[in-house]
Amino acid sequence: MKTELIVVGTELLLGQIVNTNGAYLSKELADLGYEVYFETTVGDNKKRLTDTIELASTRSELVILCGGLGPTTDDLTKEAVSEFIHEPLEYDEESLEKIYHLFTSTDKKMPENNKQQALTFKKGITLKNPTGLACGIFITVNDVHYLLLPGPPSELTAMFEQAAKPLLRKLAPHHKELVSRYLRFIDIGESQLVTDLSDLIDAQTNPTVAPYAKSNEVMLRLTAQSSDLQTAKRLLDEMEEKILAIEKEFFYGYGEELTIQDVAVNQLKQKGKTLAVIDMLTDGQFFTKGIEVQDGTDVVKFGVALENKGMLTTLFDKTFDINDHETLGKEIATYSLEKFGTDYVMVLLGDLSRGNDELPEGTIWFVLASDNGVVCKKRVFKRHLAYMKDGAIKHGYNFIRLNS
Ligand code: ATP
Ligand code: MG
Repeated sequence: MKTELIVVGTELLLGQIVNTNGAYLSKELADLGYEVYFETTVGDNKKRLTDTIELASTRSELVILCGGLGPTTDDLTKEAVSEFIHEPLEYDEESLEKIYHLFTSTDKKMPENNKQQALTFKKGITLKNPTGLACGIFITVNDVHYLLLPGPPSELTAMFEQAAKPLLRKLAPHHKELVSRYLRFIDIGESQLVTDLSDLIDAQTNPTVAPYAKSNEVMLRLTAQSSDLQTAKRLLDEMEEKILAIEKEFFYGYGEELTIQDVAVNQLKQKGKTLAVIDMLTDGQFFTKGIEVQDGTDVVKFGVALENKGMLTTLFDKTFDINDHETLGKEIATYSLEKFGTDYVMVLLGDLSRGNDELPEGTIWFVLASDNGVVCKKRVFKRHLAYMKDGAIKHGYNFIRLNS
């Protein structure tokens, strides 16, 4: 159903508040299967608001207005809609009662204009406001549905959830299930992933495939639409299979919130293994990210962040007279494995401060020691420092995932 949002409020146009209601409604409506084609923000001005309603009524089947239902003279939404659709307003007894009750129970004198919040249309459906005073309204005139919702986000969301959503569910002519699945990839850039998958992405209709570039990783969102959930899931399975046939080696898991450290730490946990970290690059963040994983402290037992190589002597009672990063990393890892008694030791070292501000460059060595031996990988970055540190963390956990 063609849907349009009219967001009312001069403060929005002045940039004093951010239009979170629009974002919330758009997402909810998409989930309900409504097609939102337009969204207009209009100030508290009757003429411009009426013009906006008029235009919306010519091109949309559902017009949702939010804001301007309050008690003051700049709250014009109900009045403007009433005049446009030629439906008189009257008081909704229940809402009026609620307003009177609030004032009598707090011993305050009620300003007369508060009654305005209880206005509704005789022919419409009055929507209760669970968290405020102004009631909402749903009314259909000349095949156009109008839904009036309050502006304060806590009221809008509560009324939408409790009163509007059930109505819209019934109204949606062909309710479609919309199901999304998120696939996460590491060690491949967005442009490479999109190039590899260009045939699939170009031909996409259902499911749609949307890439999201993240710091040091990429996420793909697959979204399938169908009248039933099972078909939508099958469509997702089929698309996922095609994608993984091409990119399996870079795929590390599912979910909008999933992290590479979740996967690596859980893998160690399942195998009953523990980890110590010697971190000479990320200021201790590698360790912190590991213990922040749920039950991470079962796995990540020990972490040392060293600001410089000199501190190694203090930590190990031993001098490491080695300049080569790889050899040094292996030496520290082997030594730590014995000293700290964990199943794995991860050593992060390297040099992140080569290059200059405009062309930063850094090299990271990931060294992982266990009873199976020591494995090592070098990686060169040409990005800003924060990106390199984030890369040290994410690729470090990926290295553990691939080698444990
Ligand atoms: P009130 O009874 O508070 O006057 P109302 O329904 O008349 O409610 P508005 O006057 O338009 O709504 O807005 C009230 C407050 O709600 C605004 O000051 C703002 O804080 C918030 N608000 C309104 N619209 C939005 C929006 N689109 N996004 C986020 N916040 C909003
Ligand atoms: Mg208001």
